[in-house]
Amino acid sequence: MPTCQVCQREWTWKQTFIRQFRFNHRMTCPSCGESQYISAKTRKKMIGYVILIPFILMSLMAIIDVTVINISPGLLYLSEVCVFAILIFLLPFFIEITNTEEPLW
Ligand SMILES: [Zn+2]
Repeated sequence: MPTCQVCQREWTWKQTFIRQFRFNHRMTCPSCGESQYISAKTRKKMIGYVILIPFILMSLMAIIDVTVINISPGLLYLSEVCVFAILIFLLPFFIEITNTEEPLW
């Protein structure tokens, strides 16, 4: 879970989960009220997962050959949605925050 770089207090899962949906990368610390930013390293990982996961799932679908094991396409799409949902719920455990907004590249 992220730790505030100003007051050194660790955020709870719920506090982090709510704050991760901001469009900008600024998050306000629930303890001291100071601005914290999602680190460039975390943002790069998030972009990587968004690109990689559909690619991996599509590759698995191609390898497994859905016609042989008789899985409906709807069930496969549902599984993709579930994987994304699980990732969104796990994301607060991996977010790192900094005092300043770091450029992505
Ligand atoms: Zn703080």
